[in-house]
Amino acid sequence: MIILKTQEEIELIREACEITSSCYELVEQAIKPGISTFEIDQLVHEHIISQGATPGFLNYGEPPFPSSACISINEEVVHGIPKKDRFLKEGDIVSVDLGAEYKGYHGDSARTYLVGEVRSTWQKLVRVAEEAFWQGMRQVKKGNRLGDIGHAVQTYTEKHGFGVIRELTGHGIGADLHEDPNLLNYGKKGRGVRLEVGMVMCLEPMITEGDHSVILANDQWTILTRDKKAAAHYENTFAITENGVEILTLTVEERKKYANEITELKATKW
Ligand code: MG
Ligand code: MG
Repeated sequence: MIILKTQEEIELIREACEITSSCYELVEQAIKPGISTFEIDQLVHEHIISQGATPGFLNYGEPPFPSSACISINEEVVHGIPKKDRFLKEGDIVSVDLGAEYKGYHGDSARTYLVGEVRSTWQKLVRVAEEAFWQGMRQVKKGNRLGDIGHAVQTYTEKHGFGVIRELTGHGIGADLHEDPNLLNYGKKGRGVRLEVGMVMCLEPMITEGDHSVILANDQWTILTRDKKAAAHYENTFAITENGVEILTLTVEERKKYANEITELKATKW
């Protein structure tokens, strides 16, 4: 069941999302060769707590996720568990997926960072994941359906020679971290649920350098590409309101970078 949100609820989700995105200002500074994924997780954890919020991922699911951020390196797609003895090294790409719960509502987002000098194909992979997100967001307009978003993400990704993961998807978000509907990164134009005011969702392209098949690691959380090729992940929470579409988990810097796109989304009529 899709739970449509009131303007008041969207305001609360916005607060959770602001805490969520503010973590990236710290994470971005910390990403460098030699830092452990545990240290990055500690930064996220302490920052979320300092804002009076709760890490949305901590103890989530079964077995309970043990950390506040999912940190996934290279062939790890998502849900990597931070570890004291897992260090970033020059040339890696690392996705940091995190969320805060505040006043009963969740934010959720992911970024993939380059660690030092990264091979050009991986730089492109990271860039295309982000661009695919924006291609998908352009389809968030009156009369369109979920399939229009997925189709745009898939078409753009595959045009660049990358694979779209099928087993993991975006989702609705609100009082729960994962709500209906699933927001697929692939699909057919004009198919699926029609978009409407009050929907709050996470669009999160997960794309791979090679084949899109994935496997689950023995830790029961980490998802890896089957062919061990690299993957990139980019995610934001967004809301459809009577006053246009708003992306809720962008940092201050990202709001500057995407000022034109933000203005366009804000101008969509519902
Ligand atoms: Mg998500
Ligand atoms: Mg996420």
